[in-house]
Amino acid sequence: SLKDTFTLSNGVQIPCVGFGTYLTPDGETAVSSVIEAVHAGYRHIDTAAVYGNEKSVGKAIRKCGTDRKELFITSKVWNSAQGYETTLHAFDKTLSDLELDYLDLYLIHWPIPRKHDDDWQQLNRETWRAMEKLYREGRVRAIGVSNFKPRHLDALLEKADIAPMVDQIELHPGMPQDETVEYCRARDILVEAWGPLAQGRLFESVELDVLAAKHRKSVSQIVLRWHLQRGILPLPKSITPSRIVENAQLFDFELSPQEMNFITHIKCESSGLDPDTFRM
Ligand code: NAD
Repeated sequence: SLKDTFTLSNGVQIPCVGFGTYLTPDGETAVSSVIEAVHAGYRHIDTAAVYGNEKSVGKAIRKCGTDRKELFITSKVWNSAQGYETTLHAFDKTLSDLELDYLDLYLIHWPIPRKHDDDWQQLNRETWRAMEKLYREGRVRAIGVSNFKPRHLDALLEKADIAPMVDQIELHPGMPQDETVEYCRARDILVEAWGPLAQGRLFESVELDVLAAKHRKSVSQIVLRWHLQRGILPLPKSITPSRIVENAQLFDFELSPQEMNFITHIKCESSGLDPDTFRM
């Protein structure tokens, strides 16, 4: 079930599917969709300061009727806040917007932070030093990164006291990210998939329709199952109650190795956001 977990390198259990909230409008939509998700069984919510909906996510957490301790809440430090003091400040703001007294997971959102700033390695390290402090103080149960390729992780690991426990990257059929997945697996870093449904672009695939029909499942369910069977934690997003429920029903069927391989190689465009060039 959605209460099944992966275990992070520090022993923390992370519920195996996270509920995405990117582009979820702040206000009633964010509150009701997160409550809907918890009622459907999700125990893991993925947000970020830059999504602008942390206040509503926090409200949903208080209203959903499930104990805070049973939920796993992730947020991320945005690019403009990278640096030591600025990250500590951004974390305080995130906690106060969410009205929580700890986070389960805090991530560096992107590896390359500022326009005109080529010294990204140094800035990432300062940000990481702040993440380590927050972790040591027990204000966050796990720390990690997002959109980091092996070379970004190499630079960070070289100077880190504490290794990241998670790397959240764009990953979906047609973009299986084998290199980063293998790199992370070798270092006990859990890979989370953002855009697990390729942000909707997957639904144009006729081949996936055929495979889904064979299992009497939807394309979305087939693809989310593919993530789980690869040992990847998907973060599907929806604000539609029926789809929120649908995306949670992944545990009553299994894909064969041939089907897994077939899904891996489906043709599907990536978002085009490249961590090596993305600067905002
Ligand atoms: P996604 O792959 O989850 O796709 C979401 C889209 O698919 C929605 O527009 C929805 O309409 C559609 N959809 C969802 N379920 C469906 C279903 N059952 N049937 C038909 N259509 C369905 O894309 P995403 O939201 O970009 O990514 C997921 C989450 O990952 C985000 O919400 C966010 O939390 C996180 N994220 C992180 C980063 C990052 O830089 N770290 C970037 C993007 C997203």
